Amino acid sequence: MDISFYSEDVKFTPYWWEAAPRVAAPEALAPERADVAIVGSGYTGLSAALTLARAGRHVLVLEKDDPGFGASSRNGGAFGANLRISFASMIGKFGLEQASAYYRGAREALATLASVITDEKIECNFARVGRFTGAHRPGDYESLERDLDLQRKHLGFEGHMVPRAEQRRFIGTDHYHGGRFTAWDGNLHPGLYHTGLLERVRAAGATVLGRTAVTAIARDGDSFVVAAGGSKVHAKQVVVATNGYGGDLSPWLKRRLIPLQSQIIATEPLPPDLMAKLMPGARQLGDTCKLHHYYRTSPDGRRILFGGRAGQREVNDPRSSGTHLYKRLVALFPELREVRITHSWAGFIAYTFDHLPHMAQQDGIYYAAGYCGSGVAMATYLGRKTALKAIGSPDAANPFDTAHPTRPLYTGRPWFMGPIIWYKGMQDALHL
Ligand SMILES: Cc1cc2nc3c(=O)[nH]c(=O)nc-3n(C[C@H](O)[C@H](O)[C@H](O)COP(=O)(O)OP(=O)(O)OC[C@H]3O[C@@H](n4cnc5c(N)ncnc54)[C@H](O)[C@@H]3O)c2cc1C
Repeated sequence: MDISFYSEDVKFTPYWWEAAPRVAAPEALAPERADVAIVGSGYTGLSAALTLARAGRHVLVLEKDDPGFGASSRNGGAFGANLRISFASMIGKFGLEQASAYYRGAREALATLASVITDEKIECNFARVGRFTGAHRPGDYESLERDLDLQRKHLGFEGHMVPRAEQRRFIGTDHYHGGRFTAWDGNLHPGLYHTGLLERVRAAGATVLGRTAVTAIARDGDSFVVAAGGSKVHAKQVVVATNGYGGDLSPWLKRRLIPLQSQIIATEPLPPDLMAKLMPGARQLGDTCKLHHYYRTSPDGRRILFGGRAGQREVNDPRSSGTHLYKRLVALFPELREVRITHSWAGFIAYTFDHLPHMAQQDGIYYAAGYCGSGVAMATYLGRKTALKAIGSPDAANPFDTAHPTRPLYTGRPWFMGPIIWYKGMQDALHL
């Protein structure tokens, strides 16, 4: 394995942790009682905690690692009103009315993210720079165009197509067959967003404990007993906000999620003229590959962060995933051949069988999960909606509070994903 492209001081932890290091929460025993116990301290858990604490509930957030250890401090920081299935495909699957409801929900999720950041005055480099999606195959350009036309017609969304001859205004490569620009998307610093949210949650009176794994949740009449870090917490309500990191805690949720890794690398600082050439406008960038890539500049505009799915296996060593992503990066931008990689890391996302995010209440426990890799806005939104549901507010209503499907015999071990990822990778390589 060639690893000569790594810098001498390469780190196999997220680039975001430089500006927003993970901070151990003060060690403390969990209190005996809480109105609401929340398992997981990512965007879902914290967004729920903020809403519940502001509604006067005594909230306890329990995190098995340091707060924000999961995907919420590892992601690409891309936000938008997008769902995993295109609007056009969704119309084919669910009909226009339901597809529109889902996409309006995604738009509302984006508005929620923007309002949380603005209202809470969270400094996290939130920038609506728009997104360019490159067409990997010639036919993808037409598909993107058809989807955009439908979104414009039925949802009033803004965007335009970019023919191949003009794409260098958006990205410094001829690799794509043109692409689509959507104006409502953008980038933020995911670590700083998490840190800001955590500070607001604590200021609102909630307790957030780190290194306190929840090992069991049992019913106790109308309430629950939560076993966490050697303590037993009596909670009137419980929210499980563990997304791709849930493990065996909830067999019900485990049967409904497909945990998968996504990986990112960051380059060393690059000369300003090279950055301006490769990433004019510092947009959110991506492609239509079946194993799609997502990339962007760092908030200071000096580095490229390049993410995607690096091969079939979940990696234990981000050294190897970095190799895969680096090759792809250089294929897109040959100018980066001599550039060093300073960070390579991975994290878990959670897919669902219907490719939709979900919130649910099962056996009295509240759940929100399955953002299919687009949780920056959606986790913030469904965390809040879950809290509103827990306090009985009519504002909890949203299109993602629907039956969360599983498959017969599925127990949470996605053995089938290896072959599927291999097949998709082959399709991408052969431009099929
Ligand atoms: C590499 C990568 C890139 C991504 N890029 C993007 C992107 O650009 N845009 C986008 O919108 N989304 C992106 N995502 C997805 C997004 O980050 C997630 O959807 C979102 O952060 C999920 O938030 P969450 O709070 O539900 O889960 P998480 O942030 O994963 O938090 C779950 C937490 O639960 C804790 N936990 C689990 N079990 C227990 C237990 N038993 N007891 C206590 N604590 C427990 C975990 O330690 C973890 O901290 C990306 C994800 C990854 C991994």
